[in-house]
Amino acid sequence: ADFYDHQPIRDQFPTLKQTIGDHPLCYLDTAATSQKPQAVIDAMTEYYQLNNANVHRAAHQLSTRATQQYEAVRQQVAHFIHAKHQQEIIFTHGTTESINMVAYGLTAQVQPNDLILIDTAAHHANIVPWQELAKRTGAIIKPIPLTADAQLDINAYEQLLQAKPTLVALCHVSNALGTVNPIIDLIAMAKNAGALTLVDGAQAVAHLEIDVQQMDCDFYVFSGHKMYGPTGVGILYGRFEQLNTLTPMLTGGEMIKTVSFDRTEYGELPNRLEAGTPAIAEVIGLGAAITFLQGLPREQIKAHEQLLMRYLQQQLLNLGDITLYGVSNDNSQSNIGSVAFNVANEHHQDVGILLDQQAVAIRCGHHCAMPLMSQLKLSGCCRASIGIYTNKHDIDQFIHALNTVKELLL
Ligand code: PMP
Repeated sequence: ADFYDHQPIRDQFPTLKQTIGDHPLCYLDTAATSQKPQAVIDAMTEYYQLNNANVHRAAHQLSTRATQQYEAVRQQVAHFIHAKHQQEIIFTHGTTESINMVAYGLTAQVQPNDLILIDTAAHHANIVPWQELAKRTGAIIKPIPLTADAQLDINAYEQLLQAKPTLVALCHVSNALGTVNPIIDLIAMAKNAGALTLVDGAQAVAHLEIDVQQMDCDFYVFSGHKMYGPTGVGILYGRFEQLNTLTPMLTGGEMIKTVSFDRTEYGELPNRLEAGTPAIAEVIGLGAAITFLQGLPREQIKAHEQLLMRYLQQQLLNLGDITLYGVSNDNSQSNIGSVAFNVANEHHQDVGILLDQQAVAIRCGHHCAMPLMSQLKLSGCCRASIGIYTNKHDIDQFIHALNTVKELLL
């Protein structure tokens, strides 16, 4: 199979047109944050240049326009992830805030000794808020073990579900390893055991078609900035009945129906979970990112990304002295977006710094997944991650640079 000729798509990303030193920028850190297409930058600029006003408030033209644009994005997000109602889409500041809102919001519903299961591969954002919930309520947290090849251990999961957990927190795609959970099965199993489910989709939305109704999860969360949109905006999707029973983490303006010093009544969804002035320009930018994504030949891009991932893994292995992490033993699951590796016994940080000197941007460290790293008996690793703009040349430049690093270090 051939790589998809997507130069016209890549051309829409202004940051990628630069050179650093003598080298063209080779950006392989999309899992940390994606670059932004011109359409997203333009949509945000246009809002500030023409329509800047607060939403949901004033009777004037600018506010009407801003409100229409803002609410249109809610509709767009609902379609994008196949939610049933647009009131099920809450704008937050990102995945981290979305998970915190759920963990805080469930406080009154969680009892001492209730069990919360968390994916061992989870990002810290999908661990720490649950630990705080456990501190407040006396709930107990148990990690869902991984198999030796770093995939979620289905048998161990099945065992844990027999204890009837209250909630299961899963990642869709691991940000550290690019491993993918069989999410539909995992949710169905959790439902059978009577558990609520939250899926962290931060690393999935840019790569996979998301259908929350088919998935049947209670909560699905993600960030705008990992799907070609701006930072500062994210989504909390929740099943209407579940969202409606969350205690609001933030209270104040916008989220109320009536306020008096005797009694305050909260508004309806989605407002009751959106206190204060939202990130209006960022929401509009997220809308532009979705429009951009929906205008692309998604199937061809998906095939292109798969080809790139295989090429990347293969070229790394061909280089020698490289260990890959999170590659399934029987190749039954291919990784999405990210490839994790180390160079022989070299420290990941040294590799990252030397690559940077050749304009290759990757991430090194624990990837906000310290429990996963300790499971893999690593202090950290290198991660190269791809996006829709990544091409074969990027991989070749990276491999060439890594070869130079190897010669320096080994
Ligand atoms: N979960 C996963 C899987 C992630 O990759 C990230 C971002 N690294 C987060 C949660 C946190 O997202 P944010 O920093 O945008 O809140």
